[in-house]
Amino acid sequence: MPAQATLSTMTFRPALRPGAPLLRRDATSLQIGTSPGVVIADRPGLYALLRLIDGSRDVERLQAYVRSSIPELDVTVADLMRELHALGVVFDASRWSGPRRRGLDAEARHVDLGGHDPARLSARPAFRLAFWSDTTSRPIVEAARAILAQSGVHDLDSTDPHLLVIASCGEPDRSLFERPTLDALDHLPVVIDEDRVRIGPLVRPGRTPCVSCHDLHRADWDHAWSALLPQFGRQPRALTPPALSAVAVHTAALELAVEILSYCDGRPVRSVGRFLVVGPEHHQRSSWPLAFHHGCACDLLSVA
Ligand SMILES: [Zn+2]
Repeated sequence: MPAQATLSTMTFRPALRPGAPLLRRDATSLQIGTSPGVVIADRPGLYALLRLIDGSRDVERLQAYVRSSIPELDVTVADLMRELHALGVVFDASRWSGPRRRGLDAEARHVDLGGHDPARLSARPAFRLAFWSDTTSRPIVEAARAILAQSGVHDLDSTDPHLLVIASCGEPDRSLFERPTLDALDHLPVVIDEDRVRIGPLVRPGRTPCVSCHDLHRADWDHAWSALLPQFGRQPRALTPPALSAVAVHTAALELAVEILSYCDGRPVRSVGRFLVVGPEHHQRSSWPLAFHHGCACDLLSVA
């Protein structure tokens, strides 16, 4: 529930509960929403007022409108809004939109319903992202980009990104990670692994376990791994395409978008020090942790 304190400010712009219809229940009561909905006692002029509160007018403007056009309403707008706010029928739309949250209204309504401050979305408009992908992994990247754009992240091809996503079918060429590691650029590998998609680890160079840590752990029990490494990403594309359904592609894109948005918003990112795996079926998930490897040079970066 949003803080009551916002009600006392002049900027409070009441809006009905997001997505909830306003209905007349019977001769003496109204209902907002149907799941299960909130029933409130009707009074003269109330229906007309509730039809107006779409978040575009503050309490003062609504009161002025009531004085001129709904004189039968026998209670002040401020008192009424306080009551409806306590019932969860009315929200403060001034928390949603604003110059720094343009295009984020749907997100902000969602966050507000969860009791969080929509201000936590404020990093999204300025967030810079870049993608590297091969042909086969491109559908995952394209679907993730669409979700990100709808979530208020629009700078998806930055030359100076906060985060670089590296997507590939099969293990990626390890040289792709050299530049971001040297530049201390945070990066997130996405690997199509036959009939599933692996996301992670999200690497903050020098601060969280990296792809080389993974390779060294792997080489500890798979002695041929170091012989395979130089071959990654060098195969021609003529091999049989992966067995990924369209649904699994979109599920992986969804998980990827969730990771990126968590990173952008400063929330915990599941794929830091961890691999997330989607598939083969869209509802199937697994994950396993990745620790620093004592032989990896990446923890020297943190000392430097
Ligand atoms: Zn490492």
